[in-house]
Amino acid sequence: MSYRVTLIPGDGIGPEVTDAARTVAAATNVGIDWEVVDAGERAIRDQGTPLPDAVLESIRRTKVALKGPITTPIGSGFRSVNVALRQKLDLYASVRPARAIAGEGTRFPETDLIVVREATEGLYSGVEQWDNPEHSKAETIAIVTRAASERICEFAFQMARREGRRKVTGVHKANIMKMTGGLFQAVFQEVAARYPDIASDERLIDNMCMQLVKKPTEYDVIVTTNLFGDILSDLCAGLAGGLGIAPGALYGTTMAVFEPVHGSAPKYAGLDKADPVAEILCLELLYRHLGEREAAERVFRAVWATVAEKKFVTYDLALPGYTSTPVPPSSCSAMAREIARKVPEVDLDAPRPRPPTMASVPPPDTALEG
Ligand code: NAD
Repeated sequence: MSYRVTLIPGDGIGPEVTDAARTVAAATNVGIDWEVVDAGERAIRDQGTPLPDAVLESIRRTKVALKGPITTPIGSGFRSVNVALRQKLDLYASVRPARAIAGEGTRFPETDLIVVREATEGLYSGVEQWDNPEHSKAETIAIVTRAASERICEFAFQMARREGRRKVTGVHKANIMKMTGGLFQAVFQEVAARYPDIASDERLIDNMCMQLVKKPTEYDVIVTTNLFGDILSDLCAGLAGGLGIAPGALYGTTMAVFEPVHGSAPKYAGLDKADPVAEILCLELLYRHLGEREAAERVFRAVWATVAEKKFVTYDLALPGYTSTPVPPSSCSAMAREIARKVPEVDLDAPRPRPPTMASVPPPDTALEG
């Protein structure tokens, strides 16, 4: 079967890692007709806007996209294209699995977490203003609604049930932000009560950060508001082995966009140095979303085998300080070619590789599905 999929190469390392994902996609037996559209810096240069209508139209038409990271100017300049895309297409559920791969690049080889982040409101609502002409006082308003909180908590519990996960943890700051945090907390508790088969607990965001670093295996699925989810997903990526291996998915009711947790890492742009694994695992999630289970499984296992073998791994999985047994680092494109080479060779009957699990955490039976 062949699919039409929107492809947004993005900025910085985006074109390199999306090329890597295309190399791997070409090694599977799933036909993909990529509809390439530009957003971000190249779109500003060529079309005068960072988010041309053609990008939104393409995703509305194809219903599925693979996306590279897009740079957002800090402090001033255009609003985030990433945030605008999520809001305009109502991609409300940002799902970010943080799974250690073959124990490489991590002090926590058993890490296997999923952060579910509300992606359309909270402190990312874009309600900001200067309070005086001198620009010495500013405010940013967080918007939290019952409807959006309920659908993201429902999404997290449904996903936990479907994936055979053990527990959902709701994260907020309801002690200080009594209305926005309090509303999210109350809705989380209501939704949790509808899922007696799934354990649930709550943490304040500050405590959650400490708990995750101390004992990540005590947690499983985490659901939270927009900014906390952004921060926690980077933290969890760090536990699992770094931003280079952390994929992500954005789900709406009719569309899905797959993008890594990492940004455009401008300092590595054009160097063929960035780790392609995060973007390649986005391809895995995309295949699962399309129902292409075999291709997804082949991609996942080929990534795992390549990382475990350590003959072709990028600097973040190769160099001293990142790994216990340093090896010469490979380039982004060479690692992608090696993963692609392994895709048809994957033995689907072999036991599925997974992080070593602690006694308290039952392993997931299936990978993430949309
Ligand atoms: P970043 O994720 O781009 O990079 C932080 C560091 O992580 C890098 O310096 C690098 O050391 C490491 N890193 C990231 N990706 C890697 C990879 N594939 N392989 C190896 N190492 C990798 O974060 P940043 O520097 O804070 O942000 C840069 C730009 O990206 C900003 O403009 C930001 O707004 C944007 N951004 C975009 C997205 C998105 O498109 N969804 C997400 C996050 C940040």
